[in-house]
Amino acid sequence: MNLIKILPILLLSVTVSLFSCDREKDTAPVTAQTPVTAARTDTELPKLSLPPESGPLPSIDSARAFQYVKEIVAFGPRPNGSANHKKVEDYFLAHLKGDDVENDIFIADTPEGKLPVHNIIAKFPGTKDGIIVVASHYDTNYPFRNTPYVGANDGGSSSALLLELANQLRGKKLEGYSVWLVWDDAEESIKPDNEIPFLDDSLYGIKHVAEKWEADGTLKKIKAFLLADMIGDADLNIDRDTNSTPWLEAVVYEAASRLGYQSHFFARTLPGVSDDHIPFVKRGVPSADLIDFNYGYNDVFWHTTQDTVDKLSPKSLEIVGGTILETIRILGKTDPLPPR
Ligand SMILES: [Zn+2]
Repeated sequence: MNLIKILPILLLSVTVSLFSCDREKDTAPVTAQTPVTAARTDTELPKLSLPPESGPLPSIDSARAFQYVKEIVAFGPRPNGSANHKKVEDYFLAHLKGDDVENDIFIADTPEGKLPVHNIIAKFPGTKDGIIVVASHYDTNYPFRNTPYVGANDGGSSSALLLELANQLRGKKLEGYSVWLVWDDAEESIKPDNEIPFLDDSLYGIKHVAEKWEADGTLKKIKAFLLADMIGDADLNIDRDTNSTPWLEAVVYEAASRLGYQSHFFARTLPGVSDDHIPFVKRGVPSADLIDFNYGYNDVFWHTTQDTVDKLSPKSLEIVGGTILETIRILGKTDPLPPR
């Protein structure tokens, strides 16, 4: 992910600057006078009339999900075109054996030449006509391919969570919309961010999916696009993103509140996060990026070799996993959904 541009956020009259990449962070002055004490933003979320809570609240096996993170990371760096990348593809497919899986494989033209891209889509049918997509990228940054960078949080945590969501969805009659899980590829930029603007050299996999679904009519059936990215941080604070759809964020917040997790959501608002939801936002699909873009103090672990499993917590996977499942359930019971 990346921040689409550098914009100051006004929080409680304290201006805090966020920078779009770690290199800039190193050199640019940070104008924060005090620590970020973000205002709660739930009052700004739209008020929706949502169906009441019904039945036991969902949960995941967080220990199992965390084990998946460790196993993904154990393959080592997984840049596009590497042997490790192929091993991780095979690892996902082995876990999805017997599921309805679509492989979306193509060659991307990138500033570093042609690179293979492999999106994996697992489809779990519901009783209602419509689809909810839950996506996570799994690649690690190509510019870091010769370093020990493993992206435990960035790419690892959310992809592991999707495997566990598949466990929760598998073999059940889903009362509601179908759920399609997407492990998308080549989200990270291929050249360093300071050489080419992020959106001109990233999101290769998910752009391909969005274009394909637009062409074949699938896009019209998608009720919501939920993205998970960097959700494993032990100090979990999911940010609100102004590129996401406010009513869908309100549903996510309601779901988190039902589970007692609301203190982990939306204390801070980020201006214009560039991430895998953008191709869907552009096409009018209600979208929400669930991202904690404060990974270590001042985000120091992001896109560094410090992004390792010891910074993460199974509890964070449980918080985001339960919230996604409850969001899906609420969406399935809300008739009609707010207009696009
Ligand atoms: Zn990243």
